[in-house]
Amino acid sequence: MEPLPKGGLGGALAKPRRPVIACSVCQIRFNSQSQAAAHYQGNRHARRLKGLEAARGGQEEEEEEEKAKAKRLLYCALCKVAVNSLSQLEAHNKGTKHRAVLEPRVDAAG
Ligand SMILES: [Zn+2]
Ligand SMILES: [Zn+2]
Repeated sequence: MEPLPKGGLGGALAKPRRPVIACSVCQIRFNSQSQAAAHYQGNRHARRLKGLEAARGGQEEEEEEEKAKAKRLLYCALCKVAVNSLSQLEAHNKGTKHRAVLEPRVDAAG
């Protein structure tokens, strides 16, 4: 039998947690807070930031969202039924089909 070396395992030492200072825009890491501050005020960072904003574009689809919202309103998620108007949805909500889904079925089996 060979004697096992002492302390062979457990090489992973727990390091003290140090906050990583980095610029997610430029993907640069810094050694200190002051370095980061200097970077944020620099030209390089400003240019990168502008480039990102331009790439994102400023198109907003508010109208589309409104339509999507309206569509959602005319939809019964419980029954997975879509209707064409609010009155139809109201009618559906009062209908027996919807109620059957809404109310838990009470089986007399016992
Ligand atoms: Zn930066
Ligand atoms: Zn329903």
